[in-house]
Amino acid sequence: MRPARALIDLDALRHNYRLARELSGARALAVVKADAYGHGSVRCAQALEAEADGFAVACIEEALVLREAGIRAPILLLEGFFEADELALIDQHDLWCVIHAQWQIDAIEQAQLSKPLTAWLKLDSGMHRVGLHPADYQHAYRRLLASGKVSKIVLMSHFARADEPECERTAEQLAVFQQAREGLSAEVSLRNSPAVLGWPQVPSDWVRPGIMLYGATPFEQAQEQAARLQPVMTLESKVISVRELPTGEPVGYGARFVAERPTRVGVVAMGYADGYPRHAPSGTPVMVDGQLTRLIGRVSMDMLTVDLTDLPQTGLGSHVELWGKQVLASDVAMAAGSIPYQIFCNLRRVPLLYL
Ligand code: PLP
Repeated sequence: MRPARALIDLDALRHNYRLARELSGARALAVVKADAYGHGSVRCAQALEAEADGFAVACIEEALVLREAGIRAPILLLEGFFEADELALIDQHDLWCVIHAQWQIDAIEQAQLSKPLTAWLKLDSGMHRVGLHPADYQHAYRRLLASGKVSKIVLMSHFARADEPECERTAEQLAVFQQAREGLSAEVSLRNSPAVLGWPQVPSDWVRPGIMLYGATPFEQAQEQAARLQPVMTLESKVISVRELPTGEPVGYGARFVAERPTRVGVVAMGYADGYPRHAPSGTPVMVDGQLTRLIGRVSMDMLTVDLTDLPQTGLGSHVELWGKQVLASDVAMAAGSIPYQIFCNLRRVPLLYL
């Protein structure tokens, strides 16, 4: 079998979930959208279900995958519903629902539900994607309550720049939120991973950690609490071919790397069709048999090449960690001009193996 695979450490996932709870002192919805950021939503949700306060996904399709797998914990739809007729399924499967627009409140008023909904009322406090305008927030809250169709409303908003520790925008968004919700006595939810890790002053009854559950930092710089995260995924493979190149010989498509000295090249079964970022440049860190080396040349669809010149003990069959506990996914992502969120979500073809 092709040796490319991703190992998923479920103990590390549980550790990171507990850290989110410990740092926030709040209840935590584990964000498992996009197939748990590429880690497999069913297995991750099963691993957390005994202790998780609930889960969050982007849409009803993702929620139904969890329900069909037997997950009974609360599941929040972070983008709510896209069509009014989804409310029947939301009702049937007991899903919690973000409400971010007036038309959704109209739909709820008109819906025939078997029981009242749990609604999370989203304010646009400055992200300017979805959410109610601050001037409409209290009215929307009262309309929802008056509809008789909801049993509970959680007040929520989402930060745009919480991953920038010095940025004032987070405090400004918080101030907009506090003003918009003045006088409403309801639970609140504001914090995503960077806010859980870096903004302890933000009040929360509920937090919504995503990337931190998977052990990757949302920050570009070192951060004290993020250093406590445990990477969950190890993307690994093996050296499947070795080449000895004289000085001046190129490697791979486009001859993007030319040997500046006699070079031992290891060919690894991993490429951009597996989700390894094609734009990772020469120099991106890679571990071979536990020793740090670097990617050289262009990443191809099914293979990539690494420099083994200074690792004489390595060769055919050597173990390669593309990212994991030694090479951090966030470092690979940064080298490739990406973010760990994206490189996890891009993973495909490689089997996921759960530890
Ligand atoms: N909450 C909402 C509304 C989101 O859209 C997301 C992710 O995009 C999260 C929480 C989780 O964010 P993070 O992965 O940064 O923790």
